Amino acid sequence: MRVRLSIVLAGVLVIAAAPSALAMTPEERTDPIPVAPRAILSLVAGFALPVDAPLDLRADLLPGAPRAYRGGTHEGVDFLAPYGAPVRAARAGIVLRIDRDYAEWPWTLRVAALASAVQEGATSPELLDRLRGRQVWVGHGNGVVTRYAHLSDVADLLVGDPVVAGDLLGAVGASGYPEGGPHLHLEIRVGDRYLGEGLEVEDVRWLVARAFSPAVIGWRDRE
Ligand SMILES: [Zn+2]
Repeated sequence: MRVRLSIVLAGVLVIAAAPSALAMTPEERTDPIPVAPRAILSLVAGFALPVDAPLDLRADLLPGAPRAYRGGTHEGVDFLAPYGAPVRAARAGIVLRIDRDYAEWPWTLRVAALASAVQEGATSPELLDRLRGRQVWVGHGNGVVTRYAHLSDVADLLVGDPVVAGDLLGAVGASGYPEGGPHLHLEIRVGDRYLGEGLEVEDVRWLVARAFSPAVIGWRDRE
């Protein structure tokens, strides 16, 4: 409830600060989000790497990869980085959520929730949120939001604060799902979808690589 309230408040702040379409959060956007990878790319181009680690395009680290332990699908890009490594804003935006008072949930509850998700063959949005652990969300306008998950700490920022690419948001951790080990889970939301949702893995790879180009060196796309 507290999180939802923060998001709503952030939306109000965003509207108050800059009443343009560019400041819209996914909840406020009403027109359909383009599905074709090339059209989506126009919304998500120009991201900087959020952590000092290479962009690894192995399918298991990308959106759309199966996650059997919770009967669901991966919705972000995983960056393999050590515990405590600085996490930085991938693009300019406004802080929509920052979990300053995060408390880890008891492992007994986690184990039970995961078992039931596997049984159902689906991960509920509530469970996904808990599994992402301590998070920072940044809104970039046009319905694009980045979520930085599993953090061990967050920067001294408040909801509504503007950030530019490279600004410190927090530190790499393993909160929410310690069994996954320290890494940064970066989710790029476009409207009510995650980047790559519904696409074939080759399209996801193309899209993610291009979203971070020219930060990515040596990637040859399939054109
Ligand atoms: Zn992940």
